[in-house]
Amino acid sequence: MIEFTDVVKSYSADTQALKGINMQIDDGEFVYLVGPSGSGKSTIIKLITGELKPTSGTVHVNGYSLEHIRRREIPYLRRTVGVVFQDFRLIESKSVYDNVAFAMRVIGAKTPEIRERVPYVLDLVGLENKGHRLPTELSGGEQQRLAIARALVNNPSTIIADEPTGNLDPERSFEIMSLLQEINNLGTTMLVVTHQLDLVHQFHKRVISIDDGLVVSDEIGLEALV
Ligand code: ADP
Repeated sequence: MIEFTDVVKSYSADTQALKGINMQIDDGEFVYLVGPSGSGKSTIIKLITGELKPTSGTVHVNGYSLEHIRRREIPYLRRTVGVVFQDFRLIESKSVYDNVAFAMRVIGAKTPEIRERVPYVLDLVGLENKGHRLPTELSGGEQQRLAIARALVNNPSTIIADEPTGNLDPERSFEIMSLLQEINNLGTTMLVVTHQLDLVHQFHKRVISIDDGLVVSDEIGLEALV
């Protein structure tokens, strides 16, 4: 579960990025987080992953209290939250398979487990025949699928996708949103940050809209935004 209570985040005396955010996302939910540039979306993501601490208020993520978390606990928090970055952050010198396997190796997974899990997630995202390719040999949509596979491989309870369709054409964007929905249907909590309202329109999901550091609406569907 993700719970923000009266969260204020100031970067400096005159920059208050979040001005009192209240929201709760239950396990297994699918939520779009939308808002104009500069409204505070990235700040919210960084508070969830423990990259930032709130100036005041409380942030609870999957059993961790972010206002008190110790530095050595942060890697454990991060195992519960897979992040799909806007710029993919793939390792260009490693194959598709090894990009995903590497994410398991860094947390100490054993080879037999890696051999079983990596093909499963590549299959889930539709890259089962591309394991030997390098990221540069993939299309933009395929690179995004690889980033999703890597975020999923350690079985986090939550995935945050930051502008996952930012660089894709409308058809590929629809496919990626559908894939995120399928993954959510398997039980992973999904928080999708996007400014593509046309796309959000096509999926009848909860939409939390923020503007100028505050939640301005929180409703199912897009009635909230029109
Ligand atoms: P979004 O992701 O919705 O574009 P951000 O969370 O990045 O919004 O930014 C919210 C506000 O906080 C903006 O006014 C931005 O300029 C400011 N901000 C973000 N990061 C920093 C930072 N590291 N230092 C100072 N101000 C920042």
